[in-house]
Amino acid sequence: MTTEIQLRRMERILAISQELISTLSLEQILHNIVHAATELTDCETAAILLLDEHSNDTLRFAAVALYQDRLFDIPVPIAASIAGAAFTRAQPVIVNDARGDPHYYARVGDLIGYHAHSLLAVPLKFQDRKIGVLEAENKKHAHPFGETDAQVLTALAVQAAIAIENARQVAQYKQLAQSEQSQHQWADALRQASAALSSTLDYDQVIDHILEQLARVVPSDTSNVMMIEAEDLARVFRGRGYAHYGTADTLTTTTLNVVNAASLQQMRATRQPIVIPDVAQDKTWKSARPEHSWIRAYVGAPIIIQDQVVGFLNANSATVNAYTTIDAERLQTFACHAAIAIENARLYQQAQQEIAERIKAEDALRHQRDHLEEIVKERTAELHRLAITDPLTETFNRRHLFILGEQAFQHAQRYRHPLAALMIDLDHFKRINDRYGHAIGDQALKKLAAYLQSSLRAADILGRYGGEEFIALLPETDWETARQSAARLCQGIRALTIDTARDPLRFTVSIGVVAIEHVRDATLDALIQRADQAMYAAKQAGRDQVCTR
Ligand code: GH3
Ligand code: MG
Ligand code: MG
Repeated sequence: MTTEIQLRRMERILAISQELISTLSLEQILHNIVHAATELTDCETAAILLLDEHSNDTLRFAAVALYQDRLFDIPVPIAASIAGAAFTRAQPVIVNDARGDPHYYARVGDLIGYHAHSLLAVPLKFQDRKIGVLEAENKKHAHPFGETDAQVLTALAVQAAIAIENARQVAQYKQLAQSEQSQHQWADALRQASAALSSTLDYDQVIDHILEQLARVVPSDTSNVMMIEAEDLARVFRGRGYAHYGTADTLTTTTLNVVNAASLQQMRATRQPIVIPDVAQDKTWKSARPEHSWIRAYVGAPIIIQDQVVGFLNANSATVNAYTTIDAERLQTFACHAAIAIENARLYQQAQQEIAERIKAEDALRHQRDHLEEIVKERTAELHRLAITDPLTETFNRRHLFILGEQAFQHAQRYRHPLAALMIDLDHFKRINDRYGHAIGDQALKKLAAYLQSSLRAADILGRYGGEEFIALLPETDWETARQSAARLCQGIRALTIDTARDPLRFTVSIGVVAIEHVRDATLDALIQRADQAMYAAKQAGRDQVCTR
């Protein structure tokens, strides 16, 4: 090889190294490296194998100039491959008869139907750390690799290792920053979600909030809250996003038997969330409705209240691999908050119901008590009325006549107000009884009493003094007025008739009238005594008349 060619190669390597650091995409860098390798060594294909992150004895294809996708991620044992030999020795390895070499790893060639004839492998080292192998291969024409190729590829490998490590670190930082940011967002979303959940105690509103906040916590195309109603029956309580798929209106009628839905059954049994990244790959996946066949990824979490799985939070995506275990974990954390909110709302509703029932019971009791009180009041009033009333004539009985009479007498005495007394006695009542019978006699008494009551003023006191004798006490009434009233009564009574089996019965009364303006009686009894005497005088004078002394 001429110096000129070597010089051009070195220039090319320099240019390539500029290219390599101009991008931070690991994929792009790997791609550029393998292409530069084919160009610099004039080979058919080149590949980069990187040390497996998890095992120290395996290399993995990270980029290949040909067969881009087919080789990706194929493991290559370090102990049984030419690349592995270069890696272990940390030296370039040239093999120009690959099939004859004990280190040749035929499996890769078998897999892709390409067996190299010549191989040049150089280690990729970053500082003192071996990170992989850069490999150049030829098959078609016998084109052996030489020392110069090894030097050139080694020079490229130095640049490549730096670029790879650089890109890896940047990617790592990015991932770290991203996960930190998403962690932040998640914490924020969860905080806001739980705040929203505790903002109401209305059961329906709580469920609405849960769905709303669920969208923040785990993005989805549709989501729903399922509650277990009967033994194994889960009903979609509320859904979100289904309008777009034309099933919103009928959603709440959707029920699933938990026993028949493997995902629900599993969540109920394990109390753990479930993620199904690709429902097509999951034989147990069962959509609640045939119209929901658009669902490609699912994540769900059980709602656990007091150790019981009472429902599920479900999120669906039309995109395969939309969910990872991180989403499941987040959904479960959120489900814990949701469960607390649901339980609070349930307890509140229950308490409200209990209060309403208690109020209703108390109302009924109060109503009953009021009713009883009313009855007692009525009975008491009735008893009182009976206690003060003469049962036949319904005027005051003798006892009450004297109680009221005493009050009226005291009042008149104290204030020197007028007070008149009428003693009214039915004439020849004995004869009436004898002639018409006792019952008709009673009727006469009733008729007389009713007439007297209706003719007197409300303030006047009428009572049955004896058998057929009545007393009327007339407060604020002077002697003359009382006399005129008595005369009118006498006249009115004369006109009363009672139908009998015989002729119509008529009767008369004799009335004695006295007042305290002439004689200031010392007692009510004295006043009545005088009225009785006046009445007797009326009898003596021929009955059916008023007498005043
Ligand atoms: P006088 O004109 O003098 O008053 O004659 P009198 O017959 O009315 O008087 P007397 O005192 O002799 O008789 C009163 C009668 O009234 C006697 C009694 O049988 C009758 N009597 C008393 N209370 C009742 C009652 O509640 N019902 C009836 N039907 N009769 C009664
Ligand atoms: Mg009498
Ligand atoms: Mg009489």
